Amino acid sequence: MSFGYDTEVDSHALGRRVQPTLRSMTQIRFSPGHALVIGAGVVGLGTAWSLLRDGWRVTVVDAGRPGDGASGGNGAQLSYSYVQPLADPGVWAQLPKLLLSTDSPLRLRPQLDPHQWSWLVSFMVACRASVSRESTRQLLALAAHSRDMFERLRQEERLDCDFTASGKLVLYPDAAGLASARRQVALQASLGGAEQRLVTPAECADIEPALTHYAARIAGGVHTPSECAVDGGQLCATLHQRLKASGVSFLLDQAVLGWRREGGRVQAVKLTTGEVQADAFVLAAGTGSVSLAQGLGLRLPVYPLKGYSITLPVEGTPAPGAPRVSVTDLARKVVFARLGNRLRVAGMAELVGENRQIDPARIDSLKATTHDVFPQMTLSGDLQPWTGLRPATPRGLPLIGLADGGPDNLWLNTGHGALGLTLAMGSADRLRALLRMASAPASRYRPAPAACSV
Ligand SMILES: Cc1cc2nc3c(=O)[nH]c(=O)nc-3n(C[C@H](O)[C@H](O)[C@H](O)COP(=O)(O)OP(=O)(O)OC[C@H]3O[C@@H](n4cnc5c(N)ncnc54)[C@H](O)[C@@H]3O)c2cc1C
Repeated sequence: MSFGYDTEVDSHALGRRVQPTLRSMTQIRFSPGHALVIGAGVVGLGTAWSLLRDGWRVTVVDAGRPGDGASGGNGAQLSYSYVQPLADPGVWAQLPKLLLSTDSPLRLRPQLDPHQWSWLVSFMVACRASVSRESTRQLLALAAHSRDMFERLRQEERLDCDFTASGKLVLYPDAAGLASARRQVALQASLGGAEQRLVTPAECADIEPALTHYAARIAGGVHTPSECAVDGGQLCATLHQRLKASGVSFLLDQAVLGWRREGGRVQAVKLTTGEVQADAFVLAAGTGSVSLAQGLGLRLPVYPLKGYSITLPVEGTPAPGAPRVSVTDLARKVVFARLGNRLRVAGMAELVGENRQIDPARIDSLKATTHDVFPQMTLSGDLQPWTGLRPATPRGLPLIGLADGGPDNLWLNTGHGALGLTLAMGSADRLRALLRMASAPASRYRPAPAACSV
């Protein structure tokens, strides 16, 4: 199989040494075998698609159905230009609110959990301007690659999934917020990011007329015309069907319970129904990756960041009062994305462990915010309350590659935090490229490991 593109594997995003370009990699003789992907979220399915195109025989295992995890009801933003990690110097000033407030969009509830504490310490250490800047640089590069790969996927598989490319407006409540937005726009421009511009409240209302009422209450916004949105749940369901039709085997409603490891390699995963052997294993199980990795003595720096969404039916086109452009209200940390005749409203980030219960107060808060920002919208019908756990790393950078200190054939593709929908296809392609290099006959290539500890 040959590749018509010439993507450079970003050595920095992988953390360490210089990698060859994909063009040179295609010249290496390569004999793919059987790859087993754990997780049928957007990252696992994207990985399966990439590996299949590279000649691997692929099996996907999931404890539930495709899109059941964080990928299903998320904010729907293909946020290629808004990649600033949560770990930001501004977090220090918000710390008391995070710990004490009951209605803050960010909420931290310390628990008797050493994993939560060690994640938090690493997160706070990452809240420095230099770290945030470097993470932004790496994420922008991965997001740009993801945009290309998602476009390829969309065209080759003729996916719709309520995809829109109607741009995005981020709204800032005050002058201080707008000043920091100006700095971020300048930083991203210097890093080669997409076109963005600061806009006045009146310009916000011109770009998105549904904001006419709310515009008086903001200081301004940032407009990125090239941003897109897609329904992650539909994407997973459609990709599942396409992959199945192309010969990928799916073992659904079957949790991976453990591993059979011999020497330095994983031989098989254990399911209730028996073992499944493979040559390469990809851990793309979102927040579930942590306990699975523990079974191999590995500690992944991934912690759940809980969020919520509602999905409102929007009658008629154009619907009165409902936005067409994606909108982020930064004061409330809520995103709005138009998905066909629906509006997805998502937000909140809670560090409360693996808790998947839907807190009615959080759903009420999303409804109230929607009413505040788009007062002409009718909030009726089934609002489809949803919660999901973002698999977050302290710096906001995903783990892509071999696990440090882990088996030779266990590959990580996890830890995409608040940007998994955006970064999935680029991450999948990076992993595919690494597997290709490592699987070449007589290859002594061993990629630098993705961060984790034993
Ligand atoms: C409220 C909210 C809003 C968001 N908004 C956006 C957004 O607008 N844009 C964006 O880019 N990202 C967004 N995200 C983040 C994004 O949803 C995630 O980063 C992404 O879905 C992670 O995908 P994943 O495939 O790694 O994990 P998941 O989708 O969680 O999939 C993991 C899969 O692994 C399976 N699994 C777990 N353990 C096992 C096991 N032992 N055996 C077998 N299978 C197992 C699970 O069943 C699950 O299906 C948002 C997240 C939330 C919660």
